Amino acid sequence: MDNESGRGNQSDWEDDQTNQALTNDPQNDGEQAGDDDDDARLPLSLSLAPPSPVVTPMMPHDFMVYLASSSSIPPPFPWATNKRGTIQSLENLESKQITTITGEVQCRHCEKVYQVSYNLRERFSEVENVFVTRKKGLRERAHPVWTNPEPVRCELCGRDKAVKPVIADRKRQINWLFLLLGQTLGYCTLEQLRDFCKHSKSPRTGAKDRVLYLTYLGLCKMLEPNRELFNRDSSCL
Ligand SMILES: [Zn+2]
Repeated sequence: MDNESGRGNQSDWEDDQTNQALTNDPQNDGEQAGDDDDDARLPLSLSLAPPSPVVTPMMPHDFMVYLASSSSIPPPFPWATNKRGTIQSLENLESKQITTITGEVQCRHCEKVYQVSYNLRERFSEVENVFVTRKKGLRERAHPVWTNPEPVRCELCGRDKAVKPVIADRKRQINWLFLLLGQTLGYCTLEQLRDFCKHSKSPRTGAKDRVLYLTYLGLCKMLEPNRELFNRDSSCL
C-alpha cells in the first residue's frame, strides 16, 4: 500500500515537474545548453551550441563593395573622414576634444595668407540658428548672407572687407567644416558645391543658391545626423 501510494505520489510529482518544465521552457532558452553539458559530459566540441549568425557571410563582401565605391582618401583634416567631402559628427569631434576648427584665409590687399580658428560650438550654433529661425521661409534657397558673404577685416594690415577663405584647388582638400562655420561656403564655385553634394548624396541640380543651401544643410546633417532640423523640408522635395 505504502509503495503504491508512494508511486502514485511520485508519478503526480513527475507530471507536475514535466508541466512546469514545459511552461518554463520559453523563458529558459539561455540556460538549456549549459544544463545539457553538465548532464552528458560531452566533449567540448560537441557540447557547443551551433554558432549564432552574428557575422553574416554577406558582410565582408558588402564591406569590399563599400570600400571600392567610396574611394577612401587620407582625411585632409582632423575633423574630416576618409570619405571625400565628409566631416565627423559633433559627438565624435567632442569625444576627441576637437573643439577648435582652423583654416587659411587670404587678404586681397596685403595678399598674406594666415590661419583663423573658430570655436566649433559657438560658430555652429550661429549656422544652426539660421535654420531654426528661417528654414521654412528659405524654401531650399541659400540665405542672402550665404550667397554673398562679406569679406572680413584683415588682422595683419587692418583693412576692412579684405579677407576671404583660401579654397583648395583640389576638391578633396577643401576645408568644408571651416567654410561652414565661417558661413563662407558661398565663395565656392558651383562646381565645387556640386561635387560636395554628389559625395553627400544630396541633389545637385538647379541654381547656385539651391546647391549652396543643400551644402549648408548637408554639412549640418553630418555634424548632427539625427537632428530633424537638418532633414530636407518635405514640402520642397
Ligand atoms: Zn591684409
